[in-house]
Amino acid sequence: TNQFSQPITQIANLTNTIQATVASAERIFQVLDEPEMTELTPVAPIPTDDIVTFEHVAFSYQPDQPLMTDYSMSVKPGQMIAIVGPTGAGKSTMINLLERFYDTTSGVIRLRGADTRGMTREDLRQHFAMVLQETWLFEGSIMDNLRYGRLEATDDDVITAAKMAHADEFIRTLPEGDDTILNQDATNISQGQRQLLTIARAFIANPEILILDEATSSVDTRTERMIQDAMAKLLAGRTSFVVAHRLSTIRYADQILVMENGNIVERGRHDDLLAAGGEYAKLYNSQFTKVG
Ligand code: ADP
Repeated sequence: TNQFSQPITQIANLTNTIQATVASAERIFQVLDEPEMTELTPVAPIPTDDIVTFEHVAFSYQPDQPLMTDYSMSVKPGQMIAIVGPTGAGKSTMINLLERFYDTTSGVIRLRGADTRGMTREDLRQHFAMVLQETWLFEGSIMDNLRYGRLEATDDDVITAAKMAHADEFIRTLPEGDDTILNQDATNISQGQRQLLTIARAFIANPEILILDEATSSVDTRTERMIQDAMAKLLAGRTSFVVAHRLSTIRYADQILVMENGNIVERGRHDDLLAAGGEYAKLYNSQFTKVG
């Protein structure tokens, strides 16, 4: 069954909530293109069956403004982790740390037991793909944009992925097909089409870990269904971190991390957290049950 098959009206209501975005594409590309600035401190991985572990992580953007003070969590392979919390709670920051766009002030982040400070950005990039972040598209052909998921991908790989993501349908209607040049910000295709391309790219990358930001999107019903169907296929059995805005996502998440002021204030599954009547219940009642 498709865990993303919420009625569209409900989604439209729900998504008008937290306006979080993971670090802007400009900065990410800039960071990826920069020479390695951070030091590598390789140490032997510890034995673990976690795929991701945060151990007492502390972090702040400015030394005098502590944000995360003690962030710990662990994720088993295949789990879906929903990150929720008000704007400014640190959801994007947590993702940025996971991908090592920033280094922790103290504490350790591990990938399969290995301290990520011992891994290059290139090493790390092999493990992650980001989805639904349209800003990751660049000026260039659709083919080149998709192949960015895995540079060695053949044309056939790309075409297969485009089919899996239901992107082939619109690509075929374009006069230049997959040679179509996306302009800067890809405004010559629709928002929904941009999202389908980011999903196709993730199919090509076939990463261990998916990172999604479900920020509000305005797409037509049919495209929304295609996106949700493609996302369900992409997520199946795969570890994922979702900055969650959809009720369908948080309901099915293996762990919901409720963030506030940089830290996790509550964690658990939807039903348990709701029954506990704490921060999650408050957030849920204010953000996810509005009728519009
Ligand atoms: P969320 O994703 O939950 O909305 P963020 O992780 O974006 O929250 O932000 C957490 C806090 O860190 C906010 O107070 C935000 O203003 C601050 N912040 C985010 N990015 C930066 C940055 N690059 N430099 C300084 N402060 C930042």
